[in-house]
Formats: sequence, structure tokens, C-alpha cells
Amino acid sequence: MTAMFERELDILLEQDLMRTQVPIGSAQGPRVALNGREVILLCSNNYLGLAEHPALKEAARSALERFGAGSGASRLVSGNCILHEELERRIASFKGTDAAIVFNSGYAANTGVIPAVAREGDLVLSDRLNHGSIIDGCRLSRARTEVYRHRDMDHLESLLRSNTAAHRKLIVTDGVFSMDGDIAPLPDLVRLAERHDAILMVDDAHATGVLGNRGRGTAEHFGMEDRVHIQMGTLGKALGSFGAYVAGARDLVQYLLNTCRSYLFSTSLPPAVCAASIAALDVLEAEPWRREKLWDNRERLARGLASLGVNTAPSGTPIFPLLVGSSDRAVRASQKAFARGIFATAIRPPTVPDGSARLRATVMATHSEEEIKQAVAIFGQLNDEGYFSHGRPG
Ligand SMILES: *Cc1c(COP(=O)(O)O)cnc(C)c1O
Repeated sequence: MTAMFERELDILLEQDLMRTQVPIGSAQGPRVALNGREVILLCSNNYLGLAEHPALKEAARSALERFGAGSGASRLVSGNCILHEELERRIASFKGTDAAIVFNSGYAANTGVIPAVAREGDLVLSDRLNHGSIIDGCRLSRARTEVYRHRDMDHLESLLRSNTAAHRKLIVTDGVFSMDGDIAPLPDLVRLAERHDAILMVDDAHATGVLGNRGRGTAEHFGMEDRVHIQMGTLGKALGSFGAYVAGARDLVQYLLNTCRSYLFSTSLPPAVCAASIAALDVLEAEPWRREKLWDNRERLARGLASLGVNTAPSGTPIFPLLVGSSDRAVRASQKAFARGIFATAIRPPTVPDGSARLRATVMATHSEEEIKQAVAIFGQLNDEGYFSHGRPG
């Protein structure tokens, strides 16, 4: 029996696709203690440094005292903690929508919402580089799924034109693509959705707290807040907490809470997590300098890499795909980076398409100028050693 898994593992090992995990003895700060060594952390999605923010920790501590550790059951079974309701009100007001509903994770949101919205006889149109949780949501839905070429609006339109028999149509896209750091062409997506009477769903996992004047995400970035039907986002990345949300019309939210299987059949978020998320929304508003610093750091790293001739296209965000190509060389590049003082994981298939393994570097508001300078120097060495390919990912 176990020999079967051993063989599978041997195959992964041979293909340089074996995953390993590393122990970290500190918060997700600009530097972390990894196997007893202090290295610059360049692969966390804790973009604003909120995960270790004193206000989030204090909010979680006091909620823990008052409400206990766990929530006990699904909300439809044992009731809402008042913090679930407060968090949803706060998210709706943050996003400028009528209502919001929270999920236990972005993965749970996407695998719950997509099958609830698109059923047998319906059509889902999904960008080729959408996140794995969207792919799984499409697989769980009984709808026909058509995958359009990355950001290719002509392809999307031709698929919309050739599938007119579908009852309901859902277009789903990452707002910020998680592995390439480019931004979805929202104005075109909105136009196509409106023209073809399709529902538009945007996944703001990497846009929440990052894009837009107030960090409200992709729709705010493009000034199209009222034209995206389903705005999904997560609370575990820039917001430094855990969980996810969908913001939208009241009917949509009521429908989701009645039909999303990942919502119905799962114990709800612990109260302390909700309290931390609420505190994160406060900090986002009270400390706009964090987002400014994030974007300054993003420009600093982009300039540094450009000066070395390292191609960071198509990134327009704090996510930099440093394309290597083969999985074995990506792993080696990551090991060398680590030996020199940077923690940047090698990202390999199936997280990214075959042949596009890479280091995915993410910069945070909490990095110092000196840390970014060091990172650029280390990536420069790797570039001199020929690790980075000059093609485009995807
Ligand atoms: C991380 C991520 C998710 C999953 O969110 P979790 O809260 O980590 O489960 C969903 N979509 C995208 C685009 C992501 O990057």
C-alpha cells in the first residue's frame, strides 16, 4: 500500500517537483529566523506588515478572552458570533457594497461561490492563469468551463459569442494574478460582461489592501466599484489575518449563505480571527503610509532589478516573477539565494505552467531600503550566474 506513495514521491523527486517545508521561528516580518539563520523574507503575502501589527494582536487577544478559542459550528447551526456580523458590516462599508459574507479562506470562497453561481447548463469563462482555487471551483461546478488565454479579451469575446446557449454566464478572473503580478484588464472585462449579460467575479486576494487609493482592490483601482457583481477577496494576505469575503448586492449575499457548500458545511472563523480582521481594516484606514511605503518599495525593487537587466514583466504590483524555466534550476536558484541571505521560494508546476518555474519575489511595506538593496545585489549575482531567463512567464 505505502509503496504506491513511495513511487509517486520518487516521480516528484525525479521531476524536481518535491515540495519541502521550512520551520520559521518568528512572525512574517521583513527578516525571519529560518533554521537558526536570519534571512530577508521575500516571499510572504503579508504586504503591509499587518500580520505582526500590535493592534491586530491586541484585538485578537481581547476577543479570545471574551469569546473563547473556537466558534463551535457552522454559523447556520450554532449562530453568528457578533464579531462575524461586525466584520461583514465593516467589509461591506470598506468595499462600498450593500452586503458582504465571510468565508474561512479564499480557497473555501472560490470552491463554494463558483459552483453556487454556475450550475449545470451554465457557462464559466476563466483566465488561463487564474488561481488554483478558482480552477477547483470550476471543476466542482457542473457548468461548462471555457479557459481563455491570459488577459486575451478577443479570445474571451469569441468564447462568449460561440456559447450563446448557456443559461447563465460567469466570467471569473484574478484581479492581481498571483504568480505573475499583472493586473486583470477590468474595464474590458466589465464591457464584455455587460455586453454579453454575464456575471463578473473578481478575486482580489492580492489586490485587497494593495490596489486602489484606499486599498479597496481592483475595482477601486479602475474606478469601477459598482460594475463588478462579485468581489471576492482575502483577509490573510495584505490584511495580515485569515479568511476571505465576498462583497456585493444583498440578494447575492443571501443567496450565497443559503447555497455555498463551503459555507454551510464548515465551522466558522474563530472570533479572535474576526477581531484581527476588523482591526486590520482600522489600520488600513489609519495608516495609509503603509500602502505608500509598499508601493515605494515596489518601485525600488523594480528599479533595482531593471538596472541589472532582470526582466520583471509583466508585473505591475509588489509581486515579481523572476523567471528561471526548469524546476531543478529554480530550486537551485532558491537555495543559492538562501545561502546568501534571501528566502524566496521556487515556484514550480502545477502552481505555474510547465517550463515557467521561477522565484516569486514579493516585497513588503516593512522592508528597509537596505534590505531591498541587499536583495537586488543577491538577485544580481544569480542573474550573472545565468539563472534568470529573459522570456515572459505565462
Ligand atoms: C491565496 C489566494 C487564494 C486563496 O486564499 P486563501 O485565503 O489563502 O485560501 C485565492 N485566490 C488567489 C488569487 C490567491 O492568491
